[in-house]
Amino acid sequence: MLVVKKFGGTSVADKERIFNVARRIEKSYKAGDDVVVVLSAMGKMTDVLIDQAKDINPNPSKRELDMLLVTGEQTSVALMSMALSVLGVPSISLNAFQVAMHTTSSYGNARLKRIDSERIRHELDQKKVVVITGFQGVNKYDDFTTLGRGGSDTTAVALAASLHADKCEIYTDVEGVYTADPRVVKKARKMKEITYDEMLDLASLGAGVLHNRSVEMAKKYNVQLVVRSSLNEEEGTIVKEKVKVERMLVSGVAADKNVTRISVIGLEDRPGVAFRVFDLLAKANINVDMILQSIGREGRKDISFTVTEDMADEALELLENSKERLDYQKLDHRTNVAKVSVVGAGMMSNPGVAARMFECMYNSNININMISTSEIRVTVLIDEKDTEKAMNAAHDAFGLED
Ligand code: ADP
Ligand code: ASP
Ligand code: MG
Repeated sequence: MLVVKKFGGTSVADKERIFNVARRIEKSYKAGDDVVVVLSAMGKMTDVLIDQAKDINPNPSKRELDMLLVTGEQTSVALMSMALSVLGVPSISLNAFQVAMHTTSSYGNARLKRIDSERIRHELDQKKVVVITGFQGVNKYDDFTTLGRGGSDTTAVALAASLHADKCEIYTDVEGVYTADPRVVKKARKMKEITYDEMLDLASLGAGVLHNRSVEMAKKYNVQLVVRSSLNEEEGTIVKEKVKVERMLVSGVAADKNVTRISVIGLEDRPGVAFRVFDLLAKANINVDMILQSIGREGRKDISFTVTEDMADEALELLENSKERLDYQKLDHRTNVAKVSVVGAGMMSNPGVAARMFECMYNSNININMISTSEIRVTVLIDEKDTEKAMNAAHDAFGLED
């Protein structure tokens, strides 16, 4: 059996944790499995490296930043291979270059395009455990790229798909996927199973337990995932196409603090104005999320929308530079906001969900800034300081506890 096992940063944070993981790998190897391991950087190493870069240059080039960040994962794979060797397990560590994991060219947010499996197959044939760097790739200029924060999950799923692995296990510091972040909502419940679609929504709306692209890719290539703890033997959560359990109205609550709200105030109220604003942003590859347009008064209207925090400066600068062409009066932005969402395929065509969400925000005295909905989610934009309160309130209101 070929298994891909991915271990996140906390799971390899220090010597003791590295040996803990090495022993788990040893067990699987000795049971006769072909084992491919994907690792993240140790602990908070990626944050440390980003701080180090910004200390030298507040605005480092994206290429050089990726060049720096990939060292985090290289450290953990080399150390893991050394630990496996102490346990007498033959292994080899490989980075994205050595494997050849080809990505698009964009630094900091590259997408995996193709993985050469020849080297990995060769090493597996030599009966070695192959320990591979997560989060990184190589672009057409032969430069290192990274896949976005949390991207090691995507490396693992991509490897599982390209190697046709029998299993893809994501080991982390919680026991699986919960109805909400268990560190924020104490009553959160571990789910036995969840569908790709619901997991994709939770991940995209801020549930950091899985990188959203990893779920997208798992769905596309039908890779069944297991999310489980690296610290105990509990069963974990299976992410797959269809689940057996009866569908709840809402399957989970997620929050995302990485949001900035931008308001373009006093735009002319005539056709084509919204198009010009969003076309400007789209051409710069700036993803816009929630959108709210006010009703026109005295020939003027306002448009507000949200972007991720790292995109806010660029968006504001673009709008500032186009002030005359777009013909607006004022630009405004707020960073201390957060999105809180309830997600669930069961809410499709159930009109009561949005009302219940708004009611529980009201009961908790939380003001709603913006709203967006789809068939399977309701999202509210609120003050960031209310995030934890809102998550707990929504979790209670939809009866998600045991
Ligand atoms: P790793 O380093 O293993 O990739 P992450 O920190 O990226 O770990 O992801 C695990 C964390 O995700 C947990 O510690 C938990 O706080 C958070 N999390 C957010 N939402 C959820 C959820 N719905 N279920 C489980 N964990 C969640
Ligand atoms: N080390 C990277 C990060 O911290 C990738 C990952 O952990 O998945 O974002
Ligand atoms: Mg992660």
